[in-house]
Amino acid sequence: MPSPRRLACVEVGGGGVETVLLGGSELEVLTGAHLPAGWSLLMAVPGLIERGRVLAASNLGWLDVDPAHELGLPVAAEVVLNDAEAAALGESALRGGAALTFVGLGTGVGGAVVADGRVVAANLLGHGGAFGDVRCPCGRTGCLETVAAGWALADPLPAPLYPAVAQAIATAIRDEPLATAPLVVVAGGLTRRHPGLVDALRAALPDHVVEGTAAPAAVKSAAAWGLALAYEQVTAP
Ligand SMILES: [Zn+2]
Repeated sequence: MPSPRRLACVEVGGGGVETVLLGGSELEVLTGAHLPAGWSLLMAVPGLIERGRVLAASNLGWLDVDPAHELGLPVAAEVVLNDAEAAALGESALRGGAALTFVGLGTGVGGAVVADGRVVAANLLGHGGAFGDVRCPCGRTGCLETVAAGWALADPLPAPLYPAVAQAIATAIRDEPLATAPLVVVAGGLTRRHPGLVDALRAALPDHVVEGTAAPAAVKSAAAWGLALAYEQVTAP
């Protein structure tokens, strides 16, 4: 009988590195990058990923690197995904494969669409729209990020501002032709600190089903479950 899969899912973020061990008797969450002997290494990293390498992750200062090597791990990862795509895929996996539009609210705003167990569109929402005259670090003016990203908002965000943030996100979703799923999942560090944002978005999008993350409170995001699904897809016979 094959041994059960044991997946060490390392999530790299601006705020630090976390390892989620999936496949043991219970979920284990460790600070930093860890690879126990005999476990498979999977990684979620911000930035542009291609064939297991991080081509560019500007906030980490990484340019064309092997992310496992950067973190001092002894082997290359079997799966490397962009962190927002991993989280989006994980939210779908945790809901039995539901199609959804994912909105990650953190330092930036990341949007992705998942259907049939795959990320079918990514890098949506954050850098589009006409939301005022503030210049975005990307060079455009009036991006959704200028009114809804952590970098642009007061910290902590006062509750009376939730509806305006939610309204902008709702507008961006309605204007995104690829965001056709009736289910919208809004997650990310900002929603962990301000769960009221999920309710505000629900009020702003009455024609959608709006949910917060399905990941346990002990982890940063659903990325580990997205990595596990991608691992199953690459190792399937
Ligand atoms: Zn922008």
